[in-house]
Amino acid sequence: MKKCSFCHRSEQDVEILIDGIDGHICNNCVEIAYEIIQREDEVKSKSKTDNKSFLDKKLLKPKEIKVFLDEYLIGQDDAKKILSVAVYNHYKRLSQDKIKVKKDEVEIEKSNIILVGETGTGKTLFARTIAKMLKVPFAIVDATVLTEAGYVGEDVESLLVRLLQSANYDIELAEKGIVFIDEIDKIARKSDNPSITRDVAGEGVQQGLLKLLEGSVVNVPPQGGRKHPDQKYISINTKHILFICGGAFDGIERKIANRLNTKLVGYSAVKNSDQIDTKNLLQYIAPQDLKSFGLIPEIVGRLPILGFLNPLDKEILKKILYEPKNSIIKQYEYLFKMDKINLSFDANVYDFIVNKAMEFKLGARGLRSICEAIMLDAMFELPSKTKKVTDFTVTLEYAKEKVLKTNKSRLKAV
Ligand code: ADP
Repeated sequence: MKKCSFCHRSEQDVEILIDGIDGHICNNCVEIAYEIIQREDEVKSKSKTDNKSFLDKKLLKPKEIKVFLDEYLIGQDDAKKILSVAVYNHYKRLSQDKIKVKKDEVEIEKSNIILVGETGTGKTLFARTIAKMLKVPFAIVDATVLTEAGYVGEDVESLLVRLLQSANYDIELAEKGIVFIDEIDKIARKSDNPSITRDVAGEGVQQGLLKLLEGSVVNVPPQGGRKHPDQKYISINTKHILFICGGAFDGIERKIANRLNTKLVGYSAVKNSDQIDTKNLLQYIAPQDLKSFGLIPEIVGRLPILGFLNPLDKEILKKILYEPKNSIIKQYEYLFKMDKINLSFDANVYDFIVNKAMEFKLGARGLRSICEAIMLDAMFELPSKTKKVTDFTVTLEYAKEKVLKTNKSRLKAV
């Protein structure tokens, strides 16, 4: 009896059975196969347009890049300026490679970025926003989980696996992506004196990272995890991958102050010290401070764009709450709107939230946990009220009551 070679259903059980040279196929299997082909085509054409979308788009000028960053990030103008130029040059580099560098043409080198600033000042947000703008795959990795090959933890190559995953395993696309390496300061050498007993965890990882930052072909295990001799590898060229590193570098102000002081010993001492704003020393950060902190000179050399983020004051925190395109308040308003409820806040509620965030020393990260504490009951109750609620205003009393009711340790946990 003739059977479908794919689903093994017999001729009687299907509507049509088509004969091939060595087998048969039924109408059901033809339909399923057609769907699979269509889906594959969709995926392929989507990744092609994604690929095109940023390279064929017109080059955004640094000022336009800053305007884009302004939509998502409040303040931090110095960092925005530095990054706008860095991204602009990165764009140029990518388009230069597309045309193929002519013999006598200057080849623009990749300029990876390092951002220094307290936690919660927006380093990750910067990297995320840039990736959004360039429409390239983006991966965030924590440097603390990386270890030198052979130690417990993840191999340095694992960060490329994340990028590959976010590019849907499209290698070409991944090779133009952005990797954000957070907490780079945690792999610093404990002392900048290399003769002191080497601490493997720090320096070994830095050496491993160096290879990726420089631009080289790296073999990565596609599923992540440890390298294994029998495994198949995917080769990724990191030449065009933009690495953005971030770190709080706790205590680096002391190194900066030391350096500035030694400089002050010169003849212009008085004049210089007058100009130094000791409240925010981070603005004077220079590559040698990163070295003094314990990054190896080769790594510092491979991160030529050095940006700093200012600590957030009350004014900025307040703006962060409602101004950015997808600010926390706008997100709540949208959530309520989906239930056809107009959500509004009394103006003094914003000050209250900001003061609480400052009081708990939570920075911008605390804004969300405090808002969540205020909004939870309303988000739970209002959608199922029998009498339809159309407006809801958060007053100062209401906000205070909800925050008071919430366990303080929960607010800090987020
Ligand atoms: P970091 O990486 O420096 O620790 P994040 O980028 O994770 O900080 O920021 C923490 C939170 O604070 C994020 O939710 C982000 O939206 C918000 N945030 C921080 N700084 C800013 C800023 N300048 N503008 C808008 N939002 C900010």
